[in-house]
Amino acid sequence: MSYRPLKLLTTGRITMNTKPTICVYCGSSPGANAAYIAAAEALGKALAQRECRLIYGAGDLGLMGATARSTLAHGGEVIGVIPDVLMNIEGLTQNLTTLIRTETMHERKKVMFANADAFIVLPGGPGTLDEAIETLTWHQLGMHKKPLTFLNVEGYWDKLLVLFDHFVDQGFMKPAFKGYYTVADTPLSAIDKCLMK
Ligand code: AMP
Repeated sequence: MSYRPLKLLTTGRITMNTKPTICVYCGSSPGANAAYIAAAEALGKALAQRECRLIYGAGDLGLMGATARSTLAHGGEVIGVIPDVLMNIEGLTQNLTTLIRTETMHERKKVMFANADAFIVLPGGPGTLDEAIETLTWHQLGMHKKPLTFLNVEGYWDKLLVLFDHFVDQGFMKPAFKGYYTVADTPLSAIDKCLMK
């Protein structure tokens, strides 16, 4: 392995502001449609080409691994953040630029959040949803103004967007919440939307 794992000493920001750091939340599974893996690979490549640093959960499974391997293969920089307990379960993408080991899931999320300038959400399951919703609710509470974009591969997130409308209609979500995220159809437009905001 060519990287040296860092043991977590701080949950604050460790990255230099030399290039934008984009956190990708995505599934640890490949999903049922080959378009999801293809989108992850395209996003990984686009991040490298746009000189954005990727930060993600370090795992080598599913869309997570596909995104990271593609960024690395195209010469990009990747920071992986993983709790020790998940290392054997999710595996580790090889040759990460930086690996940060945490003791807990909460620390993992905190390190990814603190070091990200923006977030892109690829298709994924409950873990992905948890991360995206937490980031949006923190925005709602005024804790940050970092942009988040759903990469809506083949309409994967349509049902969540309809659920958000339902929340608003039923008086459980302020319409302003819908201003805390954008929706993109392609990896390049997702990066553009993140960086423009
Ligand atoms: P999933 O979308 O369920 O495949 O999970 C994607 C990533 O989210 C994986 O790296 C999981 O380890 C992580 N994850 C799973 N559950 C949670 C959770 N409750 N909070 C934050 N991340 C999670």
